[in-house]
Amino acid sequence: MKLIDGKKTAQDIRAEIKEEVASRTAQGVRAPGLAVILVGEDPASQVYVRNKERACQEAGIRSVPYRLPASTSQEELMALIAALNADERVDGILLQLPLPKGLDADRCLLAIDPAKDVDGFHPESVGRLVQGLPGFVSCTPAGIIELLARYDLPTEGKKAVVIGRSNIVGKPLAVLLARPGRFGNATVTLCHSRTPDLAKECREADFVFAAIGRPRFVTADMVKLGAVVVDVGINRTEQGLCGDVDFEAVKDKCSAITPVPGGVGPMTIAMLLKNTLQSWRQRLGLC
Ligand code: NAD
Repeated sequence: MKLIDGKKTAQDIRAEIKEEVASRTAQGVRAPGLAVILVGEDPASQVYVRNKERACQEAGIRSVPYRLPASTSQEELMALIAALNADERVDGILLQLPLPKGLDADRCLLAIDPAKDVDGFHPESVGRLVQGLPGFVSCTPAGIIELLARYDLPTEGKKAVVIGRSNIVGKPLAVLLARPGRFGNATVTLCHSRTPDLAKECREADFVFAAIGRPRFVTADMVKLGAVVVDVGINRTEQGLCGDVDFEAVKDKCSAITPVPGGVGPMTIAMLLKNTLQSWRQRLGLC
């Protein structure tokens, strides 16, 4: 069994980004800029935002924080997004979700300039992904494909089951896996809470991607011998952090597996930095 080390892979990607930024800025090019908007006091969001800011700093990306009170109005938030859209030095705009009650996240996401949509949540980015056009891909699914590529686990010609149909993980991941290419070209089954026999679907799969949000949901009897298992879940339990896969039981059955923590999680931030880098290159004509 191969352990897919997302922590190490994410570090490698971050080091690559740091190197590119350092060499360009040494030539006088301005550093990439990421605006991070956090509204309210949600403790988990505060941790995520801190981690993203730290990762930016390490990579030489200028992160510009906007910490707003929960009492911020929709119009104030829209005005900030408009100002950041117009700001030449901002390459990416990240709006940390969820927003406090009373604020309309969809309206805000729609207001972000798609050219700065480094989270890949704008409907234009999603449409581009579905149509196979260039654009920003949501960071978690992009990180999963990057892991498969760096570990050379091609999905081409294989059967893949994605469990979970969220807009940020399951749906975009299913689209990516069905795209042309070595780390696409899979026959994809998208499962969800209304799938009649989920265990059977999983047993037939060469690749299982679990994005459900239920601790140890995927058990050993659901996994085919030699399958690749990617665990997206992050669940806080009394015994600590665990994924959507019963890791201890499944690990001996599969050919490769991501742990939790240290699997998909670290890749999400690495891909946010990569998307910011991509935006910066495009905006400055560096590619
Ligand atoms: P979500 O709650 O938006 O969606 C969960 C999906 O699971 C739904 O589509 C639902 O149909 C499906 N589901 C729920 N119960 C089911 C059941 N009994 N059988 C089959 N399907 C079922 O979740 P999300 O935002 O996609 O997140 C999923 C998990 O991934 C969570 O644990 C979340 O914390 C984690 N996550 C991790 C990262 C990361 O960076 N590693 C990023 C995003 C989400």
